[in-house]
Amino acid sequence: MTVYIVGAGPGDPELLTLKALKLIREADVILYDELIGDDIKELLKKESRAMLVDVGKRSGKHRKKQEEINRLLVEYGRKHEKVVRLKGGDPFVFGRGGEEIEILAENKIEFEVVPGITSAIAVPAYAGIPVTHRRFDPALIFITGKQERERLNWDALARLNATIVMLMGVSSLKENAERLIKHGKSPDTPVAVIEKGTTEKQRVIKGKLSDIAEIAEREKVEAPAIIIIGEVVEVHETVRDYLRNLRTP
Ligand code: SAH
Repeated sequence: MTVYIVGAGPGDPELLTLKALKLIREADVILYDELIGDDIKELLKKESRAMLVDVGKRSGKHRKKQEEINRLLVEYGRKHEKVVRLKGGDPFVFGRGGEEIEILAENKIEFEVVPGITSAIAVPAYAGIPVTHRRFDPALIFITGKQERERLNWDALARLNATIVMLMGVSSLKENAERLIKHGKSPDTPVAVIEKGTTEKQRVIKGKLSDIAEIAEREKVEAPAIIIIGEVVEVHETVRDYLRNLRTP
């Protein structure tokens, strides 16, 4: 009777950890998110004998609310030997894994956490963008484009000399880019938007803080996408011809 809170990585099944794959094979029940992506959903069908429960949530058409997911975790956690809660990326990076383990503890259900490769770092990496580089900003910040960003000190953020990685930021890109410029970030700061990173459908769209929202709109960028703001984006240009990620060997 253990619930495993497992990160599935950013979409490429080869970025699953050995531990995640082992648990997928051994699980009695797997509750998975939309964000794990089509290739990992396929892998579940092939590799797992578990009861598969799709609790995928998409902003707009919420399929199952977090409260419902919590309820299911407790219910299955009491009934089954091995329950896997499979989440996109890392469960604790803007993934509500923190809430899930609190609920499990409150209900006296034992759990284990299996970290995953977060899209915040791996998606830029697949596009040849190192999130840190000695030549550029000395800090790295992860932020959400969702409501919670209102609590952010934008003034401090714009002045911080930090590379900014924004998750869940597609729909609020225009607003947030304008806000950063207003608070003093250079309009010429390079920005990359990487859609469906690490999958066959990956797209990299680039611009500057001043025009990225317009470009992303023209290109009809959709979630999930990682937005990376900072000089490190320029590395993409330098290395792209030699980058073999997502290319057949
Ligand atoms: N826990 C996850 C993040 C959940 S928040 C992680 O660690 O990766 C959901 C956001 O993650 C999306 O809005 C998007 O910004 C980002 N994301 C997740 N997978 C992605 C992918 N394959 N490509 C681009 N962005 C992705």
